[in-house]
Amino acid sequence: MSFSKLQLNEPILKAIKLCGYTAPTPIQSEAIPQAIAGHDLIATAQTGTGKTAAFVMPALMRLSVPSASLKRSKGPRVLVLTPTRELANQVTEAVKTYGKFMRIRSGAILGGMPYFEQQRLLSQPVDLIVATPGRLIDHMERGRIDFSRLELLILDEADRMLDMGFSDAVDAIAKATPADRQTLMFTATMDNTMAKLAQRLLKEPVRIEIAGKKTTLEAIEQRLHAADDMQHKSRMLNHLIADSAMTRAIIFSGTKRNADQLAIELSAQGHSAAALHGDMSQGARNRTIMNMKRGKIRLLVATDVAARGLDVTGITHVINYDLPKNAEDYVHRIGRTGRAGASGIAISFASGKEVDSLRSIERYIGQTIPQQVIPGLEPSRPLRRTSSGGSSRPGTSSWKQKPGFSGRNYGKSDSARAPYGAQSKRKPNAEGRFSRDARPTAKRDGGKTSDFRPGKQSRQNRWA
Ligand code: AMP
Repeated sequence: MSFSKLQLNEPILKAIKLCGYTAPTPIQSEAIPQAIAGHDLIATAQTGTGKTAAFVMPALMRLSVPSASLKRSKGPRVLVLTPTRELANQVTEAVKTYGKFMRIRSGAILGGMPYFEQQRLLSQPVDLIVATPGRLIDHMERGRIDFSRLELLILDEADRMLDMGFSDAVDAIAKATPADRQTLMFTATMDNTMAKLAQRLLKEPVRIEIAGKKTTLEAIEQRLHAADDMQHKSRMLNHLIADSAMTRAIIFSGTKRNADQLAIELSAQGHSAAALHGDMSQGARNRTIMNMKRGKIRLLVATDVAARGLDVTGITHVINYDLPKNAEDYVHRIGRTGRAGASGIAISFASGKEVDSLRSIERYIGQTIPQQVIPGLEPSRPLRRTSSGGSSRPGTSSWKQKPGFSGRNYGKSDSARAPYGAQSKRKPNAEGRFSRDARPTAKRDGGKTSDFRPGKQSRQNRWA
């Protein structure tokens, strides 16, 4: 399949050529024609599959023809909602890249950025807006945004948006847009909560399931090191980062404080290292990402939310200094390496306290991560990896461990985000968080397109 078969216009094809893409990825060849045809879409695709282009290109196609709306509105014709600022920046970049030869007025409405620039953006005619839900709601409440001519609503990483407590915000935003809009929903995982969201917001959506995870994971060599304690982790890290094959690495830390601390220690040892987390200003985060892209930073110590959507090519290693509590985050973390066809190495440290997280990750990915030891840095006791019973369903334990949400502080902290209005309604269903067939280990080979009508099909049909 070539891009020329996807009904894209010349300016977009010219931009694709400039990117050096030779063929569409599976999500692009499945989603682009359906979206251009005007269907609502529910697409299951992991990050790293080329999903951003899969919705940005149809959005640009829509903007290549003048608005048919009779409303005298300056408001956006396309709205993309993303869970994090980094992901929003990535989408904004993609709009500029693929829309390079078109005249598109676009901008971002993000938390942590000055209001006045966003007010200016909203006071002029704008075609496409990329926004995080919290700040967009702020502008909506101040009556600064007009959605009367909105044609296309895109939810990127919808599952993550709900995980972060934005369920009510997403509903309120969708409600403020015209009912006859087209809606595209992209999610990494599919469960009952996502089906309910689809039922609320989408009309007779076409379902596309791209099992990108296997491809993503297959390109990544995963390793596990048992750790006695933090000192042991630190010694193993020092050994690993001495490897000259590690040209660019992301080291994931469980907390913002530890990320800062580790970055300071690594810098003091003479490494080009920096931290990336949600307590930093957006400007500082952007500068850090830019420095990583330019090769000025070799070791980036990051927290989960800050690294979401981070698209830096050439990351050779991901190191999980602390294991994520949420199994999905493991896949997102290691997906920072092995992107767009490159291979990568993901090394995880696990202490005795992290065995539950490790089990939940291994159940989720359907694999046992091979364990290795560094000569001279062997753990003093083996890791008890075998399950001692309990639930075998993925995600169950991660739900129990999720932090509670309180207060309204969208986009201000990595761990304590408030929902819009009320507490997050996302709860595990009676059988745990994911239905069996929605597990990412299932149906990995190739993509599948089918008509999907939430509520009208049997449970098995829905997720099979
Ligand atoms: P995404 O899944 O949208 O985060 O994209 C992952 C990476 O794939 C980005 O760096 C894109 O630039 C790259 N990419 C997107 N589409 C293609 C394609 N058709 N061929 C090669 N690389 C691509």
